[in-house]
Amino acid sequence: MVKINKQIIKINEENAFSNVSKLVDEYKQKHPDCDIISLGVGDVTRPIVMPVIEAMHKAVDDLASEETFKGYNADGYDFLKTTILHNNYKDLGFTNEEIHISNGTKTDATSILELFDINTKICVTNAMYPVYMNGANILNRKIAILNAKEENNFIPNLPKEKYDIIYICSPSNPTGIAYTYEELKKWIDYAIKNKSIILYDNVYASFISSKNVPKTIYEIDGAKQVAIEMNSFSKMASFTGLRCSYYIIPNEIYKDINKIWKKRITNRFNGTDYIAERGAEAVYLPESQALIKENMLYYKESIKRLKECFIRLGFTVYGGIDAPYIWVKIKENIKSWELFDLYLEKLNIIIIPGIIFGNDNYFRVSGLGKRSDIDKAIERIMKYYEK
Ligand code: PLP
Repeated sequence: MVKINKQIIKINEENAFSNVSKLVDEYKQKHPDCDIISLGVGDVTRPIVMPVIEAMHKAVDDLASEETFKGYNADGYDFLKTTILHNNYKDLGFTNEEIHISNGTKTDATSILELFDINTKICVTNAMYPVYMNGANILNRKIAILNAKEENNFIPNLPKEKYDIIYICSPSNPTGIAYTYEELKKWIDYAIKNKSIILYDNVYASFISSKNVPKTIYEIDGAKQVAIEMNSFSKMASFTGLRCSYYIIPNEIYKDINKIWKKRITNRFNGTDYIAERGAEAVYLPESQALIKENMLYYKESIKRLKECFIRLGFTVYGGIDAPYIWVKIKENIKSWELFDLYLEKLNIIIIPGIIFGNDNYFRVSGLGKRSDIDKAIERIMKYYEK
């Protein structure tokens, strides 16, 4: 038998989202009549806004005529690249060569490692989106975990040692906390000093409302020398089932870096689809932006209500201001899977155990669900703790 990649076999399924689904399914089989509410969802629930849907209908029609038909396009269409740069990176001087269109940040966050030598030292911060670590492990990369402390608001201290690649997720999944200009500047200075690269996952940027939090890392001096920013239309425009993302590799990072990466793209990827790209372009229409803003406010109101509920009950709670998640410290003297069981059994509510993200003393609560479910969940939680 040909040897299988051990690194995939080693991935811990016990502490994974798949285990949450498995346990919930088992519980539902035993209790078919129970009304379970998920506060675990990382997926969005608002539908795609109408101007985007209309643009995609038109794109479908384009495929039906010889004059407008579209086939392969590995790196994305210029109409979308130009639109993103104009709207999200205005006056930052990027060219279309420096932005790449893809099919999701989950893909991009690991694929980008192929740009760098196999011996690069990578670091992720705890608590983290587990895909960074599992993805790097699958590619057999060396990866270290930097623990971020509660007293530092879950923003890690700069390491004494040198790492080549640092993953930063801001606003963060799971903590819901965003790096401020000042905090991010320290990491950029570290990266410049150590000749490191920051892989900046910015998929929750559309939730940012704090004035001291940058919408893109490139707002900060020096970032163009050291940072690759990744973002997607998943959370902002409900593209989780549609798939369209982008990332920026500034030419300043390294001579001909985008020419080198182009070789990788053309040999390993055939692009995301034309319909999704036309839809993504329409996300920036003023009429779409107004509706998307309403969706963001909807999620933000939901997470605010959840945050207030846990605070009222005496929990220590982080996040929920610039992201749709809160990170809640467990009050009971139990670990996060036990808390998951307790919520499922006593409250019929799903939360995500913190250990999935690397911290067993916390749990993640999401505001991405339906408002009616969230309000019902709040009622159950209040009743449970106040009795
Ligand atoms: N990055 C983070 C931090 C996420 O939380 C998620 C999804 O939950 C993704 C990336 C995946 O994004 P995409 O749908 O663009 O693959």
